[in-house]
Amino acid sequence: MTRKVFSCWVGALLLACSALISAWADTPPSGSAFPTFAITDATPTRVELSVYLAYLEDPDRKLTLEQASSPTQAWKGMDRTSPNFGFTDKAYWFRFALDNRSDKPQQRLLELPRAFIDDVRLFHLQDGQLQTKYALGDEQPFAQRVVQHQNLVMPLTLAPGVHQIYLRMASSGTIEAPLRLWEPAAFYAAAGQEHLLAGAILGMLVVMIVYNLFIYFFTRDINYLYYIAFVASYLLFWSTLWGYTFAYVWPHEIRWNSIAVPVFIASACLSACLFADNFLKLRHFSQPVHRAVVGLAWASGLLLIGSFVLPYQFIIRVNSAMILVVSVVALVCGYWRWWAGARFARFYCLSWTSVFVGVSILTIGKFGLLPSNFWTDNASQIGVLLLVLMLSLTLADRINTDRSLRINAQAVALAHAQKARASQKAQIEATALANRELESRVQERTNALNEALEKLQTVNAQLQHLSNTDSLTQVNNRAYFDEALLTEHKRANRQKQPLALLLFDIDHFKSINDTWGHPAGDACLRHLADFLRSKVQRAGDVLARYGGEEFVVLLINSTLGDALDVAEELRSDIAALEIPIEGHTLRITASFGVASAIPTSMTSAATLVADADKALYEAKHHGRNCVRAAPPRIGPQQTS
Ligand code: GH3
Ligand code: MG
Ligand code: MG
Repeated sequence: MTRKVFSCWVGALLLACSALISAWADTPPSGSAFPTFAITDATPTRVELSVYLAYLEDPDRKLTLEQASSPTQAWKGMDRTSPNFGFTDKAYWFRFALDNRSDKPQQRLLELPRAFIDDVRLFHLQDGQLQTKYALGDEQPFAQRVVQHQNLVMPLTLAPGVHQIYLRMASSGTIEAPLRLWEPAAFYAAAGQEHLLAGAILGMLVVMIVYNLFIYFFTRDINYLYYIAFVASYLLFWSTLWGYTFAYVWPHEIRWNSIAVPVFIASACLSACLFADNFLKLRHFSQPVHRAVVGLAWASGLLLIGSFVLPYQFIIRVNSAMILVVSVVALVCGYWRWWAGARFARFYCLSWTSVFVGVSILTIGKFGLLPSNFWTDNASQIGVLLLVLMLSLTLADRINTDRSLRINAQAVALAHAQKARASQKAQIEATALANRELESRVQERTNALNEALEKLQTVNAQLQHLSNTDSLTQVNNRAYFDEALLTEHKRANRQKQPLALLLFDIDHFKSINDTWGHPAGDACLRHLADFLRSKVQRAGDVLARYGGEEFVVLLINSTLGDALDVAEELRSDIAALEIPIEGHTLRITASFGVASAIPTSMTSAATLVADADKALYEAKHHGRNCVRAAPPRIGPQQTS
């Protein structure tokens, strides 16, 4: 790729050199006051007339045809390498004679391929008689042109004999007279080819603009916009300079057409400066250089505005010089950056070298220092076409460089990201492991705690049981009974239901102890308790050992009658009970005291116990093994 670009660059350089050499090699014939060109059958279809011209300077731009053609005027032969007088305020007269040596009239077209000359007048005389007169130039509306062509073309009908042609040119730009005489058919054929070529060049530039515009939309790289601005400015500059825009785009805009060239030069300078500054990253490279280039951009911007308001003669000179300055600066900056190690600057340098050579040739030519010929006329086109292509390459190259940098950076970032992800994963796993361990430890502790709680509950339950149970008989003890009595008393009070109490005591138990011994007495008590447990089964009823050989049964929701029935049944069952003691069968009896009441807020549980106890005492007193009821209380009872 580099080699290819390099060969293009060398090609451009060679082109430029050959242009210079061929320019000075073209030596004109020695001058004559009225040079004559003979038209015969052997005359080529296209003749470069520049060397057959005599010219007359008109510093005040005041001469008339009569005055100019007067023998007193100091006409000179073409004493310069080309009919290029550069920027000048003078008017110039040119003249030559055409000698039609055939015997029939000849049609010819006189072409002045300089569309930007303001005012061109042609006077065609034969034998001192005015035959034809044309007024052309870009100060005339395009439609007025006798031949609708981007160049100034003047048809001549040449009868046999000698014809004098006078041309007067005045312009605020440069004066150049590279006149050509055409045989009409050849002219139109060449014009077709020229249009094709121009179309190709325009097309290429337009394609580059559109293509790079797309790239800009995708990449958002501002370099592309500057590049597009430059190419567009150049495209417009070039097509205006060569008359295409006036012919095809703004044929009626005479004023605009006259300033369009400096406007586009300035905008090309502006975009070139911005491109150079941004593309070469001058800001990061050298502040002074960056400031200088930005300063040039500002100057170009001012010239752009100035192009609309300042006199053309002034602005066209300044802008033409400016493009040379910008080219040099852009070129020097590029080589400097390349030399300082910026690889991406290499294509840039090659591109600008070609445009520099081209623009230099064009500009130097504009100041009248170079001859006009194919090479000098087209050097800038060739140079800029190369520039446009190579700058596009340059941008592509930089995208490539940037992309590989980005890919590397992405790879590094990816590696970092992967590492980070791996360590994050490891951390997550470690955390999960720690959590699992913690959870299992917590679970262990919870299990242990639950176990301990269960044990505690069991122990509590056992303790509760122990504290509520009489150890000898395994029935409820006195403490449990007292609590149950209070609870049931309250409930019966709330529900207005009767509550009954059976208090009974084994008769003559002392004698059992005395006769059989205390352990036998204990066994007797246990046997009786087992029996009682089997008898007192109703839910809510409470059996308890009240103390010694005394038991109590609390009957809920029981009237005195119900309680007496239960007492009687128990009494007879106890009397029938056979208790085996040391191989003998022991029989016992018990005396019962029964009390029942519907508790009120005025009564107390203790009253019920006291009543039952009293009844029990009565039963003992009445011979034992019997049931006695406490008389029902009437009216409010005393609490105790
Ligand atoms: P009664 O009630 O018919 O008037 O005559 P009693 O002999 O049963 O009455 P007393 O209150 O005089 O005697 C009760 C006896 O019960 C005295 C005591 O030694 C005995 N006793 C009390 N508690 C127990 C016990 O837990 N085990 C044994 N073996 N005897 C007990
Ligand atoms: Mg007793
Ligand atoms: Mg007793």
